[in-house]
Amino acid sequence: MQRKDGHIHSPYCPHGSSDNMEKYVQEAIHQGFEAITFTEHAPLPEGFTDPVPDKDSAMAKDDLSRYFKTLEMLKKAYQDHITIHSGLELDFIEGFEHEIQTFIDAHGHQLDELILSVHFLKLPDGSFICLDFDEASFAAGIEATGSLQSLYRLYYQTVLQSVKNNLHFPCPVSIGHISLVHKFQSHFQRTFSDEDQIRDVLFAIKEKGFRLDVNGAGLVKPLCKETYPPPFAISLAQEKDIPLVYGSDAHSASGIGQGYATIKPLLEGKKG
Ligand SMILES: [Zn+2]
Ligand SMILES: [Zn+2]
Repeated sequence: MQRKDGHIHSPYCPHGSSDNMEKYVQEAIHQGFEAITFTEHAPLPEGFTDPVPDKDSAMAKDDLSRYFKTLEMLKKAYQDHITIHSGLELDFIEGFEHEIQTFIDAHGHQLDELILSVHFLKLPDGSFICLDFDEASFAAGIEATGSLQSLYRLYYQTVLQSVKNNLHFPCPVSIGHISLVHKFQSHFQRTFSDEDQIRDVLFAIKEKGFRLDVNGAGLVKPLCKETYPPPFAISLAQEKDIPLVYGSDAHSASGIGQGYATIKPLLEGKKG
């Protein structure tokens, strides 16, 4: 199994660190990774207003060409040491499918791979929340949908929509952190199971031929302490032969490889 970190941010992320991309590359080499993919948050679609207070959820459109240029430069400079892939983490946002496709059509030729993720949920009143921003925005989501269980339902419905969409991609696609709704789970405790909903998402991923982002960021989030998705879902994905891609979701060079020690045995099919 190739040692790969397939979910990495960069200084172009306005809510991440200012560590330059070379620093990430050097850290990945230091940790023995054979391949990495930079997956910066793609610019949000035209007409969508970022619901977080600082409007810093994604990279600026004007930075895209510099981002890709830096990637090309690094690919060459480090080709004898590590394989570097160009990617983006693209938001699926309900109602913006057309704008998302326009973006993919414009930039797809620069991408080796893509992560499609859900961070934004459309509430019944038509407004959006960023689900994983903080506990207050999560609480607002519960309030607006009526209950924790309704918020979960809305989340998984949106993830399913993102998988079953009719978007066309020019490169391999992983579906990002499909249990992100667990981020604050020890604070907002479930009295219900969402395993069937996670299974439904995996069935859809299999049907569409997508890959699964096996994300270590949740393990280091104090209120989550769990992989995205949870271990049972990683095993199920393996049984179904869904390609699994480990991702640290690092927002600083030191975040490279986070959770890998826990996730690696799961990817190898051993009990972790
Ligand atoms: Zn981020
Ligand atoms: Zn994400």
